[in-house]
Amino acid sequence: MGERGFRQSRYEEPLVLDLGKDGRRGLSFPDFGEPVSGEIPSQIIRQDLKLPQLSEVEVVRHFTRLSQMNWGVDTGPYPLGSCTMKYNPRANEEIASFDQVQMIHPMQSFEELQGSLEMMYRLERALASLTGMHRFTLQPAAGAQGELTGCLIIRRHFRELGEDRGEIIVPDTAHGTNPASAAMAGFTVIEVPTGTDGCIDVEALKGAVSSKRTAGMMMTNPNTLGIFEKDVLEISKIIHEAGGLLYYDGANLQGILGRGRPGDMGFDLVHVNLHKTFSTPHGGGGPGSGPVGVKAPLERFLPVPLVSEEKGKYTLCWDVPKSIGRVRGWYGAFPVLARAYCYLLSMGASGLRLASGIAVLNSNYFLRKMEGIKGFSIPFNGRIRKHEVVISAEQLLEETGVTAMDVSKGLLDRGLHPPTVYFPQVVKEAMMFEFTETETRENIDRYVEALREISATAYSNREPLKRAPENASIGRLDEVWANHPRTMVLSYRMRLKRSGQGAV
Ligand SMILES: *Cc1c(COP(=O)(O)O)cnc(C)c1O
Repeated sequence: MGERGFRQSRYEEPLVLDLGKDGRRGLSFPDFGEPVSGEIPSQIIRQDLKLPQLSEVEVVRHFTRLSQMNWGVDTGPYPLGSCTMKYNPRANEEIASFDQVQMIHPMQSFEELQGSLEMMYRLERALASLTGMHRFTLQPAAGAQGELTGCLIIRRHFRELGEDRGEIIVPDTAHGTNPASAAMAGFTVIEVPTGTDGCIDVEALKGAVSSKRTAGMMMTNPNTLGIFEKDVLEISKIIHEAGGLLYYDGANLQGILGRGRPGDMGFDLVHVNLHKTFSTPHGGGGPGSGPVGVKAPLERFLPVPLVSEEKGKYTLCWDVPKSIGRVRGWYGAFPVLARAYCYLLSMGASGLRLASGIAVLNSNYFLRKMEGIKGFSIPFNGRIRKHEVVISAEQLLEETGVTAMDVSKGLLDRGLHPPTVYFPQVVKEAMMFEFTETETRENIDRYVEALREISATAYSNREPLKRAPENASIGRLDEVWANHPRTMVLSYRMRLKRSGQGAV
């Protein structure tokens, strides 16, 4: 390591605990002539706390450098398929920062909360009309929690009917949270395969459905290949005739926003991710919100409290006798709700339609431009894509030994954030791009040109791709090792222990 306080290389930034020198101070106070004392009782003043000692400018530079190493949708394109990393208008941030949003307290009286409750009520109505559902709970804190809530509602529905149905059907293209949520709610997961056209294999589905055991089916439409499930009405008929319920994973509504409604396609329950489709910056674990909507017969199972309105007065209603109970504290992620409401109001119906139109156009523009680039193929080509598009680097791997992972690292070296890779698993060497309505044609062209260049490099001399990334803050991680619970270093103390310096 070089001299402390400077960047060790172009990209490496030490921990703040490793910076500084004894005696450095962030602030210099004027000399008051006598020590200022008596404020903090001496028995609670710690003398042994080894805090880093840094000057103000060192602290400012440290955090500024860290912020410059960060990548976000405000820095450049972030085409993570399925995750919907789109631009979040600043106006929504402004409103989410209002005191009425930030300082709301769950113990305030309903009289004081009329505006907040009205906003929640109106948001619920807007989501219901966008999805074709009857009522929504705004409580779940993420998509996965919404799915769990939905599965618990399905379970309660059959318990009420006195039926013992223990199976949930999930297509093999489903997001990993779908089978996980169904299993957490106590169901056995039955997988159905994708057919040659990129849609659910209906014949296989017929074989998997049982009028005794099937509680329901979870589906994403358009699916994670970006393809609209053309047989959705038949699938809905098959599930309903067997007595099951149809669940819509609407984490990503980008492809059908303002154009198609899960309720009209036969779905009984749906969750939507406000942090994806409805303008909350996300990634890195939060904050999120995954409201769940249901058709009228399932309303009585929704979590409590619900927001209700009578003669222009808004209250929280706990009187839902068959409710599955609470799934989250208080009102849900209120600032996320506020951003979603602003987004919906500022876009309006026509704006939402335009957003999904541009998102779909961007996917298909990218797909057409990728045709003919050596090594990359387009699985299920010939079908229109909706919100996202999956390409395959299988041929590239076979002919040059360059994997989808190498391609991603090569994109990093070209200043571009990679797409989602190796998902969905039905496509070998999958790379899943989602440009949303945010990206310009020029930015999509940059990706196509970078991928063309990567293909040429792979076929001439693949070594730079195998070494990539060389222009990032760190090189290639061992992905398995990095995720292994035994090897994760989660604190400074653990790090010191590992390096044999003892604990602080
Ligand atoms: C993101 C996503 C989820 C999970 O949502 P979280 O908020 O991350 O829990 C589920 N399904 C699909 C299709 C998704 O894209």
